[in-house]
Amino acid sequence: MASGIDPAMKMKSLQNNTVHVISLGCSKNIVDSEFLLRQIQAGNLRFIHNAEIIEAGTVIINTCGFIKDAKQESIDTILHYVQAKKEGLIDRLFVTGCLSERYKKELESEIPEVDRYFGVNDLEHVVRHLGIDYRKELKGERVLTTPGHYAYLKISEGCDRTCSFCAIPMIRGRHISKPIESIIDEARHLAGKGVKELILIAQDLTWYGTDLYRKQMLPELLNRLSDMGQFKWIRMHYAYPAGFPKEIIRIMKERNDICRYLDIPFQHISNKVLSNMHRNHSKDQILELIDFFRNEIPGIGLRTTVLVGHPGEGEKEFRELLGFIQDAKFERLGAFTYSEEENTFAAKKFRDVLSEKTKQIRFGEVMKLQRSISRGINSKKMGNILNVIIDGKEGDYYIGRTEADSPEVDNEVLIKKSDGKLIPGNFYNVKITACEDYDLYGEVVT
Ligand code: SF4
Repeated sequence: MASGIDPAMKMKSLQNNTVHVISLGCSKNIVDSEFLLRQIQAGNLRFIHNAEIIEAGTVIINTCGFIKDAKQESIDTILHYVQAKKEGLIDRLFVTGCLSERYKKELESEIPEVDRYFGVNDLEHVVRHLGIDYRKELKGERVLTTPGHYAYLKISEGCDRTCSFCAIPMIRGRHISKPIESIIDEARHLAGKGVKELILIAQDLTWYGTDLYRKQMLPELLNRLSDMGQFKWIRMHYAYPAGFPKEIIRIMKERNDICRYLDIPFQHISNKVLSNMHRNHSKDQILELIDFFRNEIPGIGLRTTVLVGHPGEGEKEFRELLGFIQDAKFERLGAFTYSEEENTFAAKKFRDVLSEKTKQIRFGEVMKLQRSISRGINSKKMGNILNVIIDGKEGDYYIGRTEADSPEVDNEVLIKKSDGKLIPGNFYNVKITACEDYDLYGEVVT
């Protein structure tokens, strides 16, 4: 971000009681911002979210502190608004979220221009510092920042796992499940707002309930959410492989509103690297789990994430990972490069020997392979008729998604606008007429 504020973004019109909330990072941060926006709304303050313009009375940056690149983006955003404050375009600057939780002391001394730094569990404090009351009775209520037909539903906070590369347990703390009744209340609130697609998120979705109910309660929660009969699609993100509750797949088979889609980060396949990563599961367990998913639900959309360059990943282990990706043919795959995060087990135990260049080369090889796999999967969909939800418009096209596509992270279906008027949030049967590496093209068929 440029140091001076771009004149094009300066508008003198906004009153000082406007609060501009900026959400960085993952969908869990978006949910936190939505709870904050509901409190701001109830306090009769004007608010904007992730807007291009600069001016506002108060800017609140909800930061990400997960890995190097995300941290850099958060710091750049803070410095951008420090500059805006120096230029008198904003009155106050608050910073909250994971970066602020993790590095509060360092940030307070290095960027003192920020009026106040808050942690990840400081919603009430942030609200009070805006000069409005914190309204307890609004618990579970949010102002949605996603298109109105889909919303994220965060079912727990924190994580009990000990993945060696991950700083999240240090930031978000131990795993705390939300009581099932308050999740159902929140889902009812979202249904009342017209949400048709519910996306379940957590740091570790499959561990839900183990603290509160002494057993994995995700199957029970899925049944309860499906019994509401309010959602067309209920989608799951961030499942953990070890101790995966297979009952979920039986429920997915029985209930049409549970998407035949599962996001389950495997991170790697080499037993040596999985052990260094403290993932508590083996190559064989991963392969058995994938077979189970594909045998039980043929055509299931599997999304995974892999991490390249972790200490212990030599050329042999990396080739093993490429072989796994080639064989497993995930419908959706994302990749990260190992970023040494201080105070993590990996940072204390291992030396980060691989150069950034080597990590980037490996990242490139993984994504090049996945691109060809995705192309192959897409080409088999030619002529198929798929159920597609419309998210919006871009240029000459309506943008939609299939059951195997989660918003923001997966593929899209593009439908020419000239084909007729389509309503965002509505579902249409679409015949696939063309495909690219990731996206599909199609026409609506009645
Ligand atoms: S499951 Fe592992 S990678 Fe995911 S948040 Fe927990 S510790 Fe981090």
